[in-house]
Amino acid sequence: MTAPKALVAGNWKMNGLLASREEIKKLNFLVAQGGAGCDVLICPPATLISTLMGKGIDIGAQDCHMALSGAHTGDISAAMLKDLGCHYVIVGHSERRADHGETNDMVKAKASSAQGQGLTAIICVGETDGEREKGATLDVVTSQVTGSIPAEATAENTVIAYEPVWAIGTGKVPTTDDVAEVHGVIRSLLTDRFGPAGATVRIQYGGSVKASNAAELMSVPNVNGALVGGASLKAEDFYGIIKTYQD
Ligand code: PEP
Repeated sequence: MTAPKALVAGNWKMNGLLASREEIKKLNFLVAQGGAGCDVLICPPATLISTLMGKGIDIGAQDCHMALSGAHTGDISAAMLKDLGCHYVIVGHSERRADHGETNDMVKAKASSAQGQGLTAIICVGETDGEREKGATLDVVTSQVTGSIPAEATAENTVIAYEPVWAIGTGKVPTTDDVAEVHGVIRSLLTDRFGPAGATVRIQYGGSVKASNAAELMSVPNVNGALVGGASLKAEDFYGIIKTYQD
């Protein structure tokens, strides 16, 4: 089975105002001029989704509620994201697991809701520094992957993002051997879960990816793209990562 087409996704987190439409225009221009060689996605704050739709780059969301509608003040459902034209939603980002107490069961329910609406769920997993120091990385990642993928998920509507929490926004990155080991374990979990189709599920690496380290990280076996925070905010920086799939 051939390797899946990589997905390079930008997670803008709680950054971006209406003026950020200029960055999307620039990114469209850069991709149109230089090509991509991978799928490209930007997940801006929810306030910007509809303003960035239809400008070329695929626009996704950073979270959704597990219910499709109802009395959940401030939340956004997968049905609303689908209504706006989103194809992807990130669920279980470590900042949501930490700041909002999201458990694997909650992440699974969110992914299920998203997939039920025809969206692809980008399910984030990754160990904290303390867990890594205890040598628990593979156990943590295994329980997050198995505990966060819904029963009815398919290989087509699932992406896994491996993001070591200690590497997010810190400038620290794991060694390529460490990334290869974790992604290899995730791949086996996916083939256990989906059979041969598990080989087609994209496994992104995330955590301090930038243009200068992208080529090395993206060449690791079973790394099928990146989930990028800080370096996705500026079109030139983000395109520097995307471009590694052209070279
Ligand atoms: C992220 O939060 O998903 C992320 C990977 O952030 P950064 O690229 O800034 O480390």
